[in-house]
Amino acid sequence: MSDPSPIRFRPHHLLCMLTHIGKGYSEIFTENMGNILEQINAGETDIILEYGPDDICTPRLCDKDDVTCHCRELHIDDRDNEALADFAKSADFAMFKIGNRFRLTKDLIQRLRDAYKTNDIRTACHNCEWYDLCNDITQNGFKGTKLK
Ligand code: SF4
Repeated sequence: MSDPSPIRFRPHHLLCMLTHIGKGYSEIFTENMGNILEQINAGETDIILEYGPDDICTPRLCDKDDVTCHCRELHIDDRDNEALADFAKSADFAMFKIGNRFRLTKDLIQRLRDAYKTNDIRTACHNCEWYDLCNDITQNGFKGTKLK
């Protein structure tokens, strides 16, 4: 049997996945995010990094009434570039480049959380509306997060 298609991630979503506790823009968004994180937890699928709206953004792009949707705004592209620049500083995250396909192992997720906790990879988080929530979750040891 062939490998399943990789899940498309825009770079800064490698940060957002770490703190996701089931809150988000809408029910359909959080349901989709939960499904993606379950697939990653199962260790059966790869991630591929791409620019622009990804498989996490998809439910928002379908919701024409959601005027808060920001997935196509240029400052969100900036957020992706900031995440890539932070990742480029660490050999642990050398695989995080646009077009690369990789598996998110438990070890890699732990390294990401360690770097997230010390703010080494959080440049992309400034001005994010979820910043305080993500801080609280981090200070609480990522308790209750969907990514295991
Ligand atoms: S603060 Fe915003 S960009 Fe950073 S991880 Fe949380 S939701 Fe993602």
